[in-house]
Amino acid sequence: MLTDYHVHLRPDGVSDTFANAFNAANVERYREAADAAGIAELGVSEHVHRFQQSLAVWDHPFWREQAVDDIDAYCAFVREATDLRLGLEVDFVPGREDRTQSLIERCELDYVVGSVHFLGDLAVDFDRFDIWTSGRSPEAVWTRYFETLAAAATSGMFDILAHPDLVKMWGQGRPSPAGDPRRYYEPALEAIAESGIAVEVSTAGLRKPVAEIYPAPAFLASALEAGAPIALSSDAHMPEQVGYAYDAALELLEGLGVSELAVFERRQRRLEPLGR
Ligand SMILES: [Zn+2]
Ligand SMILES: [Zn+2]
Repeated sequence: MLTDYHVHLRPDGVSDTFANAFNAANVERYREAADAAGIAELGVSEHVHRFQQSLAVWDHPFWREQAVDDIDAYCAFVREATDLRLGLEVDFVPGREDRTQSLIERCELDYVVGSVHFLGDLAVDFDRFDIWTSGRSPEAVWTRYFETLAAAATSGMFDILAHPDLVKMWGQGRPSPAGDPRRYYEPALEAIAESGIAVEVSTAGLRKPVAEIYPAPAFLASALEAGAPIALSSDAHMPEQVGYAYDAALELLEGLGVSELAVFERRQRRLEPLGR
């Protein structure tokens, strides 16, 4: 089986409307793309910051600008009008765990994708709130990023740890620490081992300046050694990106001896054989 769980029906940006994303014709476009790519398990995980209710968790200016949709309408649409798995991509906001958990429990989700995009008010992957122009050293950013990822894993709120080395997203476009990056991974890998969270293999990185799958092979190999189940996704924001570059992901996974993928239903996880 193949999965694509980290999928957005709603494009980034504020110009589009809820109704343009959450309707039967749009879902059909994603379903057709999934069928063509041999993906049996298709789920959506909209960004938590698209929902008005997320402002109870965090009131970052970006969230205030983006939070226009109603999470209950989203959950109802996916459950009642589609055959998609219902997920949510939720930022880990340190110190806001209780409020985050309440939001997660609002809908009966199939899975929760946990993400770290922001460190404090600044983002590792977004030029409007760019941490890379803040004067911090790349060593400090990478250290804090993987420590925050570790905290996300051990928070217990998430089923899948999204794009685990997102901090590399800009590739040569931003400074990166010299030498072997593996020393930065350690806290996150320990947290993955301790928590049992599934690790996302995301082909989205291939569409970004870094042009690499998330996570790096060395990170993935260590996560597998720690016994982590793997969740495979494209982070598609349009139908054309569903199952994006899965051949490359399958080559990576098979090369590392992965034979099963994590599959989720009502937040229960099981493993299914990997393959088309
Ligand atoms: Zn993300
Ligand atoms: Zn995403």
